[in-house]
Amino acid sequence: MSGSVFDLFTIGIGPSSSHTMGPLAAAARFTGGLAAPADVTRVTVDLYGSLGATGRGHGTDRAVEWGLEGEDARTLDPVAARRRSDEIAATGRLRLGRATSRPGPEIDFSPDDIVFHRRTLPGHPNALRLTAWAGRRILAQRTYFSIGGGEIREAGPDGLPVRPPQTPATVPFPFRTAAELLAHCSDRTIPEVMFANECALRPREEVLHRLREVWDTMDACIAAGVSTDGTLPGGLGVQRRAASFRRHLEASQGRERGLPDQFAGVDWVTLWALAVNEENAAGGRVVTAPTNGAAGVIPAVLSYCVRFVPGSSEKSIASFLLAAGAIGLVYKATASISGAEVGCQGEVGTACSMAAAGAAQILSGSPQQVTNAAEIGMEHNLGLTCDPVGGLVQIPCIERNAMAALKAIAAARLALLRERQQVSLDQVIATMMATGRDMSRKYKETSLGGLAVNLVEC
Ligand code: SF4
Repeated sequence: MSGSVFDLFTIGIGPSSSHTMGPLAAAARFTGGLAAPADVTRVTVDLYGSLGATGRGHGTDRAVEWGLEGEDARTLDPVAARRRSDEIAATGRLRLGRATSRPGPEIDFSPDDIVFHRRTLPGHPNALRLTAWAGRRILAQRTYFSIGGGEIREAGPDGLPVRPPQTPATVPFPFRTAAELLAHCSDRTIPEVMFANECALRPREEVLHRLREVWDTMDACIAAGVSTDGTLPGGLGVQRRAASFRRHLEASQGRERGLPDQFAGVDWVTLWALAVNEENAAGGRVVTAPTNGAAGVIPAVLSYCVRFVPGSSEKSIASFLLAAGAIGLVYKATASISGAEVGCQGEVGTACSMAAAGAAQILSGSPQQVTNAAEIGMEHNLGLTCDPVGGLVQIPCIERNAMAALKAIAAARLALLRERQQVSLDQVIATMMATGRDMSRKYKETSLGGLAVNLVEC
């Protein structure tokens, strides 16, 4: 198997791929699959595990409403959607499939129709069950799992997630592990391998267009983040910093290239990561990379490469995304990118690893050095817990992305020093997964431990 980088880099909305985009997709699929939507009088939603524990902070309830109305995260206008949520709250009415070509009936819908459970369902820590009623009769009931990065799986008859049928390897260079990926690279680079695979799945022009669209969306997200002041939603009172930081940098340095300040690069990378994650926390448009909580790392490092590495071009952007995407696919195939399953090491750790690979590629690293950079990027994130304060993707998430972006650049530089490395990427990924299994549930997106319980609010 291999997969596509566009399964990792999906355009959507904040603040969370697993807690916002996944539930939105599940609710949309549920509504779209109703056999007799005209008979539905009510829909109830049960959120389990991490969705139940931190769903309020992550906006899961609103995402479910949007999904029931048939919205698609890729095209949803975040501002209009929030307005629509306010309307639903004010009127107590929701129209099934409203955003689709076949709208269904308008039904009563109140906050009490969404129940937040602390207990988990077998199969995955992020689960939601949707039930459509006709009066007191159940018309349809489905359970879905939000497995990370916005991807969902439906529960089968045994209640466990069903893997979609595996398509036969239709790509020229199938790989599951980093070792298998490297085996294809004796006379080609990792981006060349990935590009050939992508072109087997869709036309070449579409691949190039979508890579450009991913970068344009990341760049637009940075632009929005560095221009917006204010307080982030959710009640923690977190002030947005990217806009004032940008003004400070521009005032003190005036231009982006050839800066006299030796630490200017560090500041800009930090700024871009903050900008993306503030946009994400505010529910803005972001690219999952590979998740929303970790969405700032790759744009910040890629932005650094585009603006600071001499000779960077359109081709460099594609190479960065293809190299980073190949590494992300290995994580997805052999481990997990879900904070609810393995902690933040699977989200920000994976993003750091992917970004390190992308940067090493831009710096002309060999395929082995690119995977070595990815290994270093993860090795120093092992054990990273997920403990978002108030269940919001703000503290520690926003600053954590900035730290990981800087770490990714350091990892890429370190990897270029030599070809051979003691620890392989596959070994560190297996270690991350094992560490995630051993990690207490408190530190897996439940907000029951760590900073989430030790921060004294004032
Ligand atoms: S701590 Fe990490 S995994 Fe948890 S919500 Fe924040 S970014 Fe996501």
